[in-house]
Amino acid sequence: MTFCLHDPEAGYYATRPALGADGDFITAPETSQMFGELIGLWCAQSWLDMGSPDAFTLIECGPGRGLMMADALRAARALPAFEAAARVLLVEPSVRLRAAQAETLGDRVAWIARIEDAPAGPAIVLGNEFLDCLPIRQCIRTESGWRERLVGAGEDGGLAFGLAPAAAPEALIPAALRDAPIGSVAEQCAALESIVAALAARGGPLRALFIDYGSAETTGGNTFQAVRAHASADPLDDPGGADLTAHVDFPRLAALARAAGLDVTSPIAQGDFLRALGIEARAAALAQARPGKGDVIQRQLQRLIAPEQMGGLFRAICLSSPGLPQPAAF
Ligand code: SAH
Repeated sequence: MTFCLHDPEAGYYATRPALGADGDFITAPETSQMFGELIGLWCAQSWLDMGSPDAFTLIECGPGRGLMMADALRAARALPAFEAAARVLLVEPSVRLRAAQAETLGDRVAWIARIEDAPAGPAIVLGNEFLDCLPIRQCIRTESGWRERLVGAGEDGGLAFGLAPAAAPEALIPAALRDAPIGSVAEQCAALESIVAALAARGGPLRALFIDYGSAETTGGNTFQAVRAHASADPLDDPGGADLTAHVDFPRLAALARAAGLDVTSPIAQGDFLRALGIEARAAALAQARPGKGDVIQRQLQRLIAPEQMGGLFRAICLSSPGLPQPAAF
């Protein structure tokens, strides 16, 4: 996954990241400005909850084209002291996407390649569809126990999936799945550990919001997928030519964060999160300001909050340094 996404010469994000209607996939900030606006207000409230520090770092992991941050900063102008205190830092390895972000956000932002490189001090961290791009390992329960799924050379000259000959390391199988039926798949994302460790090591005050695909329970299914031109593709066909993702393991993220001493919310449906922040009122205000656009705004709203669309497929989770008030919307 790392090579396919980030190899400088052939990786998807290094060479042809294509977000938006004309590209390969549409994210929530690409769907409507309302998404980033509400995140901006959530950040402003979080800054108040943190005691309104004079200076803090507003960090976004994997900002894509930078739309969410642009919408967030515009909405947060309602609280000028927040804007004045914020130093915006983007975590983005892709040179191409850094250029797109610079175009959207201008020169008030700076970049780092890894969250570990962010400076110390108060911080609000955001990540939408960021955790789902981090590489996973997969194990499958076979007749002869758990085996890791590997990628190798196939008979036709392409790539093929295979199984490791030896038993999978026990640490790769969550306790909840040890006795799962034959054919069950356990996925594990090692980077979740380093991200949680980096966040916990910062000390406080800290608040981090991640929104992504994933279930609130450990389910044991194969969620590895490739997407190209808004359709699912064979992940082994044309490596580097498609976006590769896997669902986020919210139970494990929460357990890691708790073990590292952070406060964690339960993962709530994106629709509930956005409704609690007032997205319906925002949609009504936008529709009133733009006569003739009411239907479009309604469709965008439904896409973001309807349970059978992003509203139910995506979850939001908040990690905080201990002692802060309950985060808005949770
Ligand atoms: N948040 C944006 C973009 C999502 S696409 C949106 O919602 O529209 C995934 C983003 O994560 C891209 O910006 C991609 O370059 C970035 N990304 C992928 N792997 C990463 C990694 N290992 N570290 C940091 N960013 C990464």
